[in-house]
Amino acid sequence: MQNIIFIAPPAAGKGTISECLKNDFGYQHLSTGDMLREAIKEQSPMGLMVKDIMNEGKLVSDEIVIDLISDKLGEDGKPFILDGFPRTLNQALKLTELLNNLNKDYIVIYLDLPKEEALKRIAGRLNCSCGKTYNTLINSLKPKKEGICDICGNTLIKRDDDNQESFLVRYNSYLENTKPIINYYLSNKRLIKIDAAKDKQSVYQDIIEVIK
Ligand SMILES: [Zn+2]
Repeated sequence: MQNIIFIAPPAAGKGTISECLKNDFGYQHLSTGDMLREAIKEQSPMGLMVKDIMNEGKLVSDEIVIDLISDKLGEDGKPFILDGFPRTLNQALKLTELLNNLNKDYIVIYLDLPKEEALKRIAGRLNCSCGKTYNTLINSLKPKKEGICDICGNTLIKRDDDNQESFLVRYNSYLENTKPIINYYLSNKRLIKIDAAKDKQSVYQDIIEVIK
């Protein structure tokens, strides 16, 4: 199985896919956000340093994040999914250096989701307190009874940050920030584009095809 660097706009389904890859193929899911939180909780020397930096309202440097990734990478010889990193071209360059040094091969999967489709997913999204999500604008994801969870019967709620305006801000800034990274991975022929507008099962099948 190929190691994966995941690049995906909001609402492209990256979380679900990562979860499936973890369960079906034993992938190690490395989210840099989780790694930072974990280091802080463990109160490791690195964690304490990170805590100080964040308390001062500063950004954790690329070097620190690279060190964290380097520590976790390939634990137990499992293939990895890197999620949330790189976010800048500089990070991408440092990551390439690290992966070369560790002799790790990898592909970059870009989940391509047009803005209209992303908006549709956001606009119709409903959540239940049990963790199940629904979508009133996508037939296969509608709850059986309007506004009610199929599984636990609770009333479905709309997340505050799911409104169109704040989503567009997130989506556009995402596109702008990732453009240099995408171009970089295109130029070194690592990038594989997956059409994420298809239904979940087809997207997953397409991904399985490329990681084998
Ligand atoms: Zn529920």
